[in-house]
Amino acid sequence: RSPQENVPRPMRYVRINTLALSTAECIQKFKDEGYEYLDGCLPESGRCFSLDEHIGGLLVFPPGTDLTKNEMYCKGQIVLQDKASCIPVAVLQPPAGASVLDACAAPGNKTTQLAAAVGSSGSVCAFERDPKRFKILAETIRKHECTHVTIANMDFLKTNPADYPQIEYGLVDPSCSGSGMLEDFENTDTYDSDRLQSLSNFQCMILRHAMQFPNMKRVVYSTCSVHKEENEEVVRQVLEAEPAFQLVPYPLPLWPRRGFPEYSFGNDVIRADPKADRMNGFFVACFEKIE
Ligand code: SAM
Repeated sequence: RSPQENVPRPMRYVRINTLALSTAECIQKFKDEGYEYLDGCLPESGRCFSLDEHIGGLLVFPPGTDLTKNEMYCKGQIVLQDKASCIPVAVLQPPAGASVLDACAAPGNKTTQLAAAVGSSGSVCAFERDPKRFKILAETIRKHECTHVTIANMDFLKTNPADYPQIEYGLVDPSCSGSGMLEDFENTDTYDSDRLQSLSNFQCMILRHAMQFPNMKRVVYSTCSVHKEENEEVVRQVLEAEPAFQLVPYPLPLWPRRGFPEYSFGNDVIRADPKADRMNGFFVACFEKIE
């Protein structure tokens, strides 16, 4: 049977690249192109859109809306980014002017979102180990006019944290099983436990490395996996190993779906369910340094 049977079609989400265009300008441009703005309801079909209720400046269009030929997309003024992928930066909330690291950056959707959040008075250091994916990252950065982003084709684990005293915020979005991605999602039982364990070990290592940056205040961790081994288990182990950090309590308060209740910190981490939430499955936890 089709892997997506019984899964409602995901909405089309559009993030405005506020480095290039304001939210008001973007909404007006869509209206000028004949899209009707709906206030407070989900656009199910037709040429219409609304504003997302959880993520500021995120636009929602009916499932399947094709914007790949839209002028704003071609010019890098909008990004076709799933809502799940927008949540980590929305939770991290680096202030304007901040210096941020992106440990695992390609293809760069969250890198450009970070760049927009900190604005041109801030800076982003982005790392990508894979040379082919690094080229894609470089192209994403160029297209979205992120002049305050520095990119490095290197293993993040080989960085020396002491070389980056300016960094205060971090995004760790490492390789994962991808089991929450809608196209894979019905096959989640087929993951073997050795593979999950080795991903989990790598994820702990990379998250802990980000915590070694001397002036790090807050680190957000995210995956597009539905497996606890890559999510709550990583959080549990890292909290144990890094007592200088704690979880930010109840992030994104209006978002209802939380971590597995058998963990004492379940309410302080965020999950999305691909079936119920009409976006890819994901997991987000935000750590802050204890003063
Ligand atoms: N954050 C990206 C985005 O939103 O567009 C997606 C990141 S993807 C889930 C993980 C990326 O991390 C892959 O491109 C992978 O090549 C890269 N990666 C894995 N291990 C790494 C390491 N040790 N150092 C730097 N990059 C790494």
